Amino acid sequence: MAEQFDVVVIGAGPAGYHAAIRAAQLGLKTACIDAALGKDGKPALGGTCLRVGCIPSKALLDSSRQFWNMGHLFGDHGISFDKPKIDVPTMIGRKDKIVKQFTGGIAQLFKANKVTPFYGFGQLQPGNVVKVKQHDGSEVELKGTNVIIAAGSDSIELPFAKFGEHIVDNVGALDFDKVPKRLGVIGAGVIGLELGSVWNRLGAEVTVLEGLPNFLAAADAEVGKVAAREFKKQGLDIRLGCKVSNTEVKKDGVHVFYTDDKGEQEIVVDKLLVAVGRRAATKGLLAEGTGVKLNERGMIEVDAHCHTGVDGVWAVGDCVRGPMLAHKGFEEGIAVAELIAGLPGHVNLDTIPWVIYTEPEIAWVGKTEEQLKAEGIPYKAGSFPFAAVGRAVAMAEPAGFVKVLAHAETDTVLGMHLVGANVSELVHEGVLTMEFKGSADDLARICHAHPSLSEAVHDAAMAVHKRSIHKAN
Ligand code: FAD
Ligand code: NAD
Repeated sequence: MAEQFDVVVIGAGPAGYHAAIRAAQLGLKTACIDAALGKDGKPALGGTCLRVGCIPSKALLDSSRQFWNMGHLFGDHGISFDKPKIDVPTMIGRKDKIVKQFTGGIAQLFKANKVTPFYGFGQLQPGNVVKVKQHDGSEVELKGTNVIIAAGSDSIELPFAKFGEHIVDNVGALDFDKVPKRLGVIGAGVIGLELGSVWNRLGAEVTVLEGLPNFLAAADAEVGKVAAREFKKQGLDIRLGCKVSNTEVKKDGVHVFYTDDKGEQEIVVDKLLVAVGRRAATKGLLAEGTGVKLNERGMIEVDAHCHTGVDGVWAVGDCVRGPMLAHKGFEEGIAVAELIAGLPGHVNLDTIPWVIYTEPEIAWVGKTEEQLKAEGIPYKAGSFPFAAVGRAVAMAEPAGFVKVLAHAETDTVLGMHLVGANVSELVHEGVLTMEFKGSADDLARICHAHPSLSEAVHDAAMAVHKRSIHKAN
């Protein structure tokens, strides 16, 4: 006999744990099932984000940034010391401790909010029943008046580069026991750039092979150009237009074969990170006859409110359309829980911010100039460089700029594009303005503290109407 719940959530990643906690807060009897185990072999909630994604990658980005700054920036401040050394196991241990703190934190939040966790693999059956194969081999059945699928995503494996000791995805690249002398990366996307930066800063020779001819094709072209220049200065060797055809693991390393506009090429590396995107984790998730449909990319089909079209079955996060970002999953999880409770719930996919946590950081919200041109939308652009911002120069972080794009007639902000220090925080000025349908003039008339990095946003908004104070218009 299946145990009855108001809401059964499959997956306790960002999308699933938000859905479960919000549903429980709203008085719904909620269960949340997760199959994942941590490095210690024990159940670990929090999904890709907390175990092998957002949080561990940022921990290593921070460690490696401290190390890089010691060798490259401290001298300018008059600080000297003997050559810095990195103890990789200590750095990885620090990262693991952070992961444990946060995955354990979700278990505590479940307890505090009365969400019942189930540890094992869940499969949706027809009639909103979820069969859970628990880690001890036993099976339980849960029936949900509503079921929320939040199964997340897995790395894409290339057929000619199977994951193992030398060829890894994010999981392996977050756990190297020493700095590889030569690191190859396939894919100059978010993971390739973030994890490539980590090991490059620690001394690896990093070669990134990107299939597309343009760097960071999803970002605004000017942002991509500045970022590419900065990464080159840091020693990241990013090669564009590379068609990788094969890899071979030999005694002297991993041989990677590719063709570019000069013909056939080969590099030899000690470790190879494959970061060519992620796919929805729907394998084994749906029993025959549930009625839940997958699209051609294996994602669960949903409408604008994350409903699958099957009565009481919803899906959120990486396993459905839209950007594969933790905060997008957070919002969808909350929205669906609220819809189930009879409240309004909606996520505006047009104002989801993107951040790449490299040095400099890259962030954006809304449309790029290229998209506005392609869509024939008349716009005005205003930009401002961090090199003219006192706080940025005082911090020795003069690289990059902020660009505000506004509708040429209504002045409504349509996009904000940033590259520079702490732009992961500044981008939210753009998100807020866009959510409130604000204009560049609104942003320009809001008082920003001096000296602060946010002055670049202020001056960029003023530059939209050619009235920036700190640069020629
Ligand atoms: P997931 O986090 O993948 O969680 C799904 C959970 O469901 C998993 O725990 C899985 O074990 C479980 N599960 C799946 N199927 C079943 C089943 N049938 N039964 C039981 N359990 C199941 N995003 C950002 O916004 N910012 C970042 O800085 C960032 N950095 C990242 C860095 C890396 C290296 C990676 C790989 C990703 C990063 N992301 C980042 C993306 C982010 O991790 C994902 O967008 C986010 O985790 C998706 O949340 P989710 O809840 O949809 O799925
Ligand atoms: P991605 O989509 O960001 O980048 C993949 C890159 O690989 C693209 O540039 C693509 O053109 C290239 N590529 C694809 N196939 C290739 C091939 N065969 N040869 C060479 N290049 C190839 O994917 P990712 O870096 O794997 O990250 C997956 C997702 O995880 C991201 O899209 C993002 O949603 C999420 N993520 C987010 C953050 C963040 O928010 N800071 C960090 C890491 C990951």
